[in-house]
Amino acid sequence: MRLPILLLISISVISAHNTAQPPQPPDSSAFLQAQWRKPPALSAADASRIDQLLKQMTLKEKVGQMTQLEIGMITDGQDANLSINPEKLRKAVADYGVGSIINVKDTALTVAKWHELLSAIESAAAGTRLKIPVIYGIDSIHGATYVAGATLFPQPIGMAATWDPELMKATSQVAARETRAAGISWNFSPVLDIGRQALWPRLYETFGEDPYLASVMGAATISGYQGDNPAAPTAVAATMKHYVGYSFPTSGHDRTPALIPEITLREYFLPTFAAGARAGALSVMVNSGEVNGIPGHVNKWLLTDVLRGELGFDGVVVSDWEDIKKLVSTHHSSATEKDATRDAVLAGIDMSMVPSDYSFSDLLVQLVNEKQVPMARIDEAVRRILTMKARVGLFAGSGIPSNGAAEVGSAASRDLARRAARESIVLAKNDRNALPLASGGRVLITGPTADSLPSLNNGWTITWQGNRPDLYPKDRHTIRGALEARLGERATYVAGASFDKELDLEAVRGAAATADVVVLCLGEMSYAETPGNIDDLSLPTAQLRLADAVIAAGKPVILVMAEGRPRIIHSIADRVPAILVALNPGLEGGDAIADVLLGDVNPSGRLPITYPREPNALLTYDHKAFEEQDTAFGLKAFHPQFEFGSGLSYTTFEYANLTVPETATFDGGFDVSATVRNTGSRAGTEVVQLYISDRVASVTPPVKRLHRFVRVDLAAGESRDVRFHVSRSDLSFIGPSGKAVSEAGVFTARIGTLARDVTVQ
Ligand code: BGC
Repeated sequence: MRLPILLLISISVISAHNTAQPPQPPDSSAFLQAQWRKPPALSAADASRIDQLLKQMTLKEKVGQMTQLEIGMITDGQDANLSINPEKLRKAVADYGVGSIINVKDTALTVAKWHELLSAIESAAAGTRLKIPVIYGIDSIHGATYVAGATLFPQPIGMAATWDPELMKATSQVAARETRAAGISWNFSPVLDIGRQALWPRLYETFGEDPYLASVMGAATISGYQGDNPAAPTAVAATMKHYVGYSFPTSGHDRTPALIPEITLREYFLPTFAAGARAGALSVMVNSGEVNGIPGHVNKWLLTDVLRGELGFDGVVVSDWEDIKKLVSTHHSSATEKDATRDAVLAGIDMSMVPSDYSFSDLLVQLVNEKQVPMARIDEAVRRILTMKARVGLFAGSGIPSNGAAEVGSAASRDLARRAARESIVLAKNDRNALPLASGGRVLITGPTADSLPSLNNGWTITWQGNRPDLYPKDRHTIRGALEARLGERATYVAGASFDKELDLEAVRGAAATADVVVLCLGEMSYAETPGNIDDLSLPTAQLRLADAVIAAGKPVILVMAEGRPRIIHSIADRVPAILVALNPGLEGGDAIADVLLGDVNPSGRLPITYPREPNALLTYDHKAFEEQDTAFGLKAFHPQFEFGSGLSYTTFEYANLTVPETATFDGGFDVSATVRNTGSRAGTEVVQLYISDRVASVTPPVKRLHRFVRVDLAAGESRDVRFHVSRSDLSFIGPSGKAVSEAGVFTARIGTLARDVTVQ
């Protein structure tokens, strides 16, 4: 019988031979535990201030708080020429009393410009009857997107490939600090949608296909943004988005319908939001699409019963862009904007991202006067909004820091971004040790992503679409730039093809003939949201023809895929010895890729998605056994290009001694341990992953599910024992009734290539 205290220990990574070991990082479960807790309760002073305000506010003032406008509603011009229009500002803040303003027009602004704009908004609010501050919201998606000079990390999909939640937290702290430096206290991040539809143009904003990995990374992000106290000058309010089911459109297109049975919704799509609510996220943004025919913005069951009642979320629910209007224009679920406004507010929307007119305010005042919306619902929403404002410290004095510029883009933050980019790169194939590149010889660099910072960064980079290389910092390297800087005259660059057009294939052939190795950089240009829609994951023909041309030259070809979603490389993959997958590694990505290609860094990234082999074979790793059967015709239903969780290193790892008890109880759980050994000749990092298979279940079980992971650094020849504790929640699933159940039976624990059974009752 184990001592109860031991049951509290969810993991320990201990020396296999009892020699002194450096302290090991906590395993994934630590990031979902109680220390990642909610922000402190409101101070008595703030609580009573909010009570007082609610007593004093008129209906129009309350509805104003529920209104969110975009910056063009108070400014003229754009980019650096953006300036406050006093008349518009007066209308928004003094006449309508709007609660929130958001976004840019259209590019990142300097800290000084932000301070100029936000000071004007602050003064306007201070001049109103009740002096309620306006909260400014922004999309800092992989760093402070819209703050000029900000540190830009890998996109969330790349961060997920690090399997490093501590690093996720650290990069989120930098993003929060650099956002708050501009005076902005509300961040519309993280995306907690599960990336199980590879076509979806927002896949790169997700933490991949697995709810557990995404929950851990999401909780780490929220913790990084909000810290122990979101009012700190280094913190911002987090927004879990886009609740819920947005990421699984049948068409693969942005903002289109999803069909998700309740069991699947609860098993795969809700857990990240549950983890985010437990981590104390102060706000939620709503799915612009629809699930099972009900638009996200009027789904009372999801927005109120599940989100509030079951997940215990107590923050602000904000709509997405124009989405109440779209209930009329796009969804055709309401006949008029007034009906849509009523239905959305009654369903649980607290604040409407209107964002380009005053219709929401005008209509909601009418609806309350006509008793179509009860005042109690308005009071509830306004209380939540004022509470968030108090939690981020807006009632405590000016939100504009005296010297925010010093916080932005420091050398230390840039180093962290380089580390994150390095950790995010996945070595997917490396036959005959084709990588690292040999220290001599001529290297041809070619392909549309070779000289493209947008391909490394994707959308939400200085502009929404991230497609203005002229605005990117001049001192960041593309892949080409990084390799040329290191290799000097050994490197040659020929573009070969743009993303969808052949350019100079003859020149490529000529250069390949005299090169010793070719670095072929394919993938995607940047995109964000609907403009990124595609109907086919296949690479454009021009890129495939470029690949054919360089492969035909007979030199070893190293394929580098710089992309935000897995573009099909099936026709190339078997003909090249090595493949790197660089999932939008960010502004330091060019150098990080060169670090890996040249062997200065030993790659440790692992795929957070299943990399499909064919464009229509989009099964995830946790598919059903039924979907894996060989058919009578010798076909294999599941044979991805690269598996979820896979990734190679320049060293090799082996597992031994997988140990589980023969029997266990749901209440006590059990420990799983194994020894991992670095069997190669250089230091490396292994991501130890524990999967569990429920062998028989009343809802057909997936072949396996991820339940724990930890990164372990191992010197050449070093081995360690890794131990994880598995508890009831790891062994439960959403049963036929839609509730979590634990069913006695055999479970198989898997680490690496090893598997052992335990009978649990
Ligand atoms: C996106 C959101 C984003 C909002 C504000 C919308 O189009 O769907 O993710 O937060 O714009 O920029």
